[in-house]
Amino acid sequence: RKKIIEAEFSRMNDRQRQAVLATQGPLLVLAGAGSGKTTVLVNRVACILKYGAAYESDAVPSGLTAEDLSYLQNCLAQRSFGDERLRELLAVDAPPSWALLAITFTNKAAGEMKSRLEQMLGEQALDIWACTFHSACSRILRREIDKLELGYSRSFTIYDTDDSLRVLRECCRDVAGDDRNFANKTALPAISRAKEQNMSPAAFEAAASGDYRLQKIASVYYKYQQALRQANALDFDDMLRLTVMLFEKNPDVLDHYARRFRYVLVDEYQDTNPVQYQLISLLAGGHQNLCVVGDDDQSIYKFRGATIENILSFEKQFKHARVIKLEQNYRSTSAILGVANAVIANNTGRKSKKLWTENPDGDPVKVRRFEDEATEALFIANTILENVKDGMKFADQAVIYRMNAQSGPIEKAFVRMGIPYRIIGGHRFYDRMEIRDLMAYLCVINNPGDNLHFTRIVNAPKRSIGSATMAAVQQIAEQTGQTLYEVFLHCQEYEYFSKKTARIESFMHFMEHMRELRTEILPHELIRTVMEESGYLASLGDDEEAKSRKENLSTLISNAADYEKNADEPTLEGFLEEAALMTDIDNYDGQADTVVMMTIHAAKGLEFPAVFIAGMEEGVFPGQSVMIYPEQLEEERRLAYVGITRAKRKLNLTCAGSRMLFGATVRNRPSRFLDEIPNNLKDAQDMRPHFERPQPRRAAPAAPIRLERPGVSRPVQSKAVFAPGDTVGHGTFGRGMVLSAKTMGGDTLLEIAFDTCGTKKLMANFARLKKL
Ligand code: ATP
Ligand code: MG
Repeated sequence: RKKIIEAEFSRMNDRQRQAVLATQGPLLVLAGAGSGKTTVLVNRVACILKYGAAYESDAVPSGLTAEDLSYLQNCLAQRSFGDERLRELLAVDAPPSWALLAITFTNKAAGEMKSRLEQMLGEQALDIWACTFHSACSRILRREIDKLELGYSRSFTIYDTDDSLRVLRECCRDVAGDDRNFANKTALPAISRAKEQNMSPAAFEAAASGDYRLQKIASVYYKYQQALRQANALDFDDMLRLTVMLFEKNPDVLDHYARRFRYVLVDEYQDTNPVQYQLISLLAGGHQNLCVVGDDDQSIYKFRGATIENILSFEKQFKHARVIKLEQNYRSTSAILGVANAVIANNTGRKSKKLWTENPDGDPVKVRRFEDEATEALFIANTILENVKDGMKFADQAVIYRMNAQSGPIEKAFVRMGIPYRIIGGHRFYDRMEIRDLMAYLCVINNPGDNLHFTRIVNAPKRSIGSATMAAVQQIAEQTGQTLYEVFLHCQEYEYFSKKTARIESFMHFMEHMRELRTEILPHELIRTVMEESGYLASLGDDEEAKSRKENLSTLISNAADYEKNADEPTLEGFLEEAALMTDIDNYDGQADTVVMMTIHAAKGLEFPAVFIAGMEEGVFPGQSVMIYPEQLEEERRLAYVGITRAKRKLNLTCAGSRMLFGATVRNRPSRFLDEIPNNLKDAQDMRPHFERPQPRRAAPAAPIRLERPGVSRPVQSKAVFAPGDTVGHGTFGRGMVLSAKTMGGDTLLEIAFDTCGTKKLMANFARLKKL
């Protein structure tokens, strides 16, 4: 039996196979980039579904006849492992597909995992929960949220970051005065961090004692949760936190899911936060069949509350865990891997591991320094075209960068040179006005308590229900404890609306009718009906802009139809859920032949034959914040490691002597990460005009020129304007928040509350402050 199972996974190397076959009990696969972690995870799922615990069981299959034995031997000789009879003869206890929970980082990764499993296992793969943390939680909450007894019902709406921010702004009105940045810059990140640590508003308040700023945030946090509850809405962080709360409060519900998911697997484990960790421990704590795979060197979400501790202390938390390290990289050339190893070696506090590969050396990694961002972009565009001439596809090439703001000049060059490209993570489809409007209709039809989205559609298209009416409705709602929808529904009871009753009634009649239809017709039909009968479509007009908006709405209809094709039981709720959980990276299907551009964060887990990392400069990558928080340097370096290891065959690292960023020109020195690459692994050239260019381009690599010593970037004309609520960094005082800003002469007097040394007054032009 063992021989057959081993043979089925013979394409894996020994360690990988060990990880695939060790199906019982806790297992940590700790391995560097491109060593096959995700591949192992997928094969492990297949192994569990086919053979259950058979490989690790000592029980000998009984009752096998001589004929059975020769059948098995034949399978082994022919390497044919697909059929039922073989599995029947061998399997001791193969679990059903729904007993597996495989969690990955993005929907795209989950989709990829599903399709690979489908290839290996056929239809059986369809019932596996291969999904993100968020979609797993939302599926659980859809069934169980009422058991929390917090007033949520199963038709809850999921608010995306933009929606959450709108609600939060309302909640901040009283505490933040006219500080417009308080909600997004201070309250939102603080509340999100708190939720990731599973801190309730009360716990947050307790921890805030004595700190004025935190107390202010605590009061906002209370209000915000109340507003969400009233609207029967959850933000992204709530989905995780409430699921943990549900399990903690209801042992029987936990028991149900812990029994159901007999095997739990998690990819990219290094980026899990404490709430996610709690969730996994609750689910797998009993049977301990938990496999996590990750790479501590690729932990890049600390700023979002991910804690590397989860991976470093796995063995302590799960006693008797097996740990398997993979060290062979299958993705990159030896040159690229050497660069990755050399850079990451500068981090301290890591579990030491060194990747090796049998892949050929490949070209040396190119390091190029340019005059400015425009010439850098031209080089990237030219090289892409050269690669295409050499037979590469556009889609084989990715341009990645530290910040979205860097994409502009590169796009310009691509447009000029006719290079097809796609930006992942720029403007999301679901962020467009007309899509948001239509989705808001659907949200209210699904959940009439959703005040935020109701406010959005009540006057779109124009129905003469302006802000004065809405303010009155709001007040009535608050006084009577009704939702906005309910107030409108009963508008004839209120004197105030007498002049508008007819209009409001006709709108509410329409909405009620749509609510009836929602269970009778499919989501895509409902979208069409809403669009047409609400008057929204007609209100767009028919100029050029309207044409493109209408096209987008058609795309929305086809998205819904697509969803219906793939869903077992398509519902409006299900479609809304899928749309709410879509992240930028999910729009990337990898099919069209275009170059892709994205941040390094978004590129995690992906691979491309050719990769360009643009903006390898001090102050950009690593970013400014490492000047103030040296401990962030290690996270930036891990990010560099992630970037470098996306490349399979060709890697280009570029930097510019000066660059326009956020409205100011900055002169930057080359990134220290470039200096950390040994000379024999890079082909470095300074391409600025006053440098002699080594001739000719395709000759043997010229002796590498050492680039300038890395240092700190110096803004040339820093035009940074500070406003109350901005978080800033100061060389000596550390981090603080601007409380007030007064213009004085040509300068600004700032009052800043520093985290460690209290409030200080500083002149902006002298203080060398950095906006964080
Ligand atoms: P990352 O850390 O970037 O997430 P990873 O460890 O998950 O990487 P995979 O994406 O699973 O690595 O694998 C990297 C590449 O190596 C893939 O193209 C995969 O098909 C290939 N690969 C993995 N294992 C083997 C193997 N045993 N033989 C040949 N190719 C392999
Ligand atoms: Mg992976």
